[in-house]
Amino acid sequence: MLIEGGEGALSDIFEKTREEFLLPDGIIYLDGNSLGAMPKKALARLQEAASEEWGKMLIRGWNDANWIDLPDRTGNKIARLIGAEQGTVMVGDTTSINLFKALTAALGLADRKVILSDSGNFPNDLYVAQGVVKLFGADAELRIVAPEEVDAAISDEVGVLMITDVDYRTGRRHNMQALDQKAKALGIVTIWDLCHSAGALPVNLSACNADFAVGCSYKYLNGGPGAPAFIYVRPGLADRIGPALSGWMGHEAPFAFDLDYRPASGVSRMRVGTPPVLALSALDAALDVWNGVDLNLLRARSIELCEIFIEEVERRCPDLQLASPRDAEQRGSQVSFHFAEGYAAMQALIADGVIGDFRAPDIMRFGFAPLYVSKEDAREAARRLASVILQKRYADPIFATRSKVT
Ligand SMILES: *Cc1c(COP(=O)(O)O)cnc(C)c1O
Repeated sequence: MLIEGGEGALSDIFEKTREEFLLPDGIIYLDGNSLGAMPKKALARLQEAASEEWGKMLIRGWNDANWIDLPDRTGNKIARLIGAEQGTVMVGDTTSINLFKALTAALGLADRKVILSDSGNFPNDLYVAQGVVKLFGADAELRIVAPEEVDAAISDEVGVLMITDVDYRTGRRHNMQALDQKAKALGIVTIWDLCHSAGALPVNLSACNADFAVGCSYKYLNGGPGAPAFIYVRPGLADRIGPALSGWMGHEAPFAFDLDYRPASGVSRMRVGTPPVLALSALDAALDVWNGVDLNLLRARSIELCEIFIEEVERRCPDLQLASPRDAEQRGSQVSFHFAEGYAAMQALIADGVIGDFRAPDIMRFGFAPLYVSKEDAREAARRLASVILQKRYADPIFATRSKVT
């Protein structure tokens, strides 16, 4: 049995991790799947990195504060959370850019130039793939099937499988291990986007034998707005890649200033340019919140919170239709409901102190970050959502105006 000590044991564990975060009074925060809350350690570190390191060390910080190793150091901390070996994860750039690096590397390795993905993917990933396909010319093709058809579409025509593990709208999960295994048996290079998985549920890249993985650090990993993303390359594979973005920080000897590019060994060759030191410093500290956190217990907590929310919402608001899989095993750490007036209803709910978000066309989305969301948050959020819906508070015209970011 996972949870010793029975009922309440999970709450005891996650009350402690909640204390690691700065959460504004009176707010129930259910959007950690879009931007994680701020760890107290990250704020302290950010202040120190700015005033003590940048301010006082100036250029010496690269060596004296070891800024130069931040991409590997943060990568190694993330590695534990995604079941990767030490030295296989590098942090820097954005998820989109890391996906570009992975896709170009994968097409370079694959004999066949068909990339298979699905229509449940975050559109951004498909945009990046469309750009890459153009670069690779007439042979290259992006093939998009429905999420439930991915398994059947894995064939010997495909060269690269590019899949996002957890659907950003509904939280539906793919069976990563099974898909990866089927693809590998056909010689297909695999790329996983873990944006909604890393820090949300246990991932085991080594067991899946995945070739590449990418993901954000500003969602469940709480690295802060625009925090740099990660890229994983399977051990042994990195040395066969000729990076498309062959920058000096991925050079074997950046400070030799040779005129020719020679890639560094291993995942270090996926580095490109100068790392964002302040952002990486905040992330480095934010990742320490995970020390001692058992990811199986995290998963148990996530399921507990999501189940409470679904039950409480459905009992009160029969008009809301669950958009997420009902089976917890098939779901990430979020719950979504369809509601035609979803945008306005979410604005009304935010005005009432419960922050979730909206995804077109009609999805109200609620993320449950187990490190800092409590059972009482889940219950109270359901009560307030019900009051917005049942009293039709979303009909107030002040909630109809759409902002740039939804
Ligand atoms: C959040 C998210 C991204 C974000 O990419 P950025 O380059 O950081 O903007 C990419 N892919 C998926 C699946 C995401 O959920």
